[in-house]
Amino acid sequence: MLVNSTILVVYMTNKKLELSPLPYDYDALEPVISKAVMELHHDKHHLAYVTGANNALDKLQKIREGQIEGDLKAIMRDLSFNYNGAKLHEMFWNNMKPAIENNNPEGWISDKIDKNFGSFDVFKKEFSAAAVGVEGSGWAVLWKNQDNELIVGQVEKHNLLGLNGFEPVLVLDVWEHAYYLDYQNKRADYVEKWWKVVNWIDVGNKLAKSI
Ligand code: MN
Repeated sequence: MLVNSTILVVYMTNKKLELSPLPYDYDALEPVISKAVMELHHDKHHLAYVTGANNALDKLQKIREGQIEGDLKAIMRDLSFNYNGAKLHEMFWNNMKPAIENNNPEGWISDKIDKNFGSFDVFKKEFSAAAVGVEGSGWAVLWKNQDNELIVGQVEKHNLLGLNGFEPVLVLDVWEHAYYLDYQNKRADYVEKWWKVVNWIDVGNKLAKSI
């Protein structure tokens, strides 16, 4: 689960994170997302969030044990930002698979989207608008709430505006590092192409999981 409260993160986890490997080759998402972007994104950016979260956890533990004094507010901010950054990237990789044309959801996932949004096209438009409209760095997110309804929204940076208790099932990274090498400033083009690589099976698995 993602959390947006720095305090909650501190109480939720003492566990160190690890850099999860990509579930496919670095070039598997071409031509939608290039190998070069995937290498940088996973090996540098994702790794930096894992390292940042673990460093913050180390500092927090030392403060708890009285070994050091530290700026708790700054450490909690680091932990929230980096922990959620690591978790979002892990989810993002799994939410994607090699591109196909007309990559629309089928079966019960399609029915659920129709029920919540009216049609897949309406949902796609809303989610794309959320992604294109993120101010600065952030994410578009599809959440499942406690009543099993789907909600489209944004996360700023990695950890702001998130909804506590809502389960993310589909996330799209719209930080510039996610697309600038491939699409320059044309974020809307990146978002439009991205629909070809959505892994609806993974989304369905996350949707089917009980909260
Ligand atoms: Mn990213």
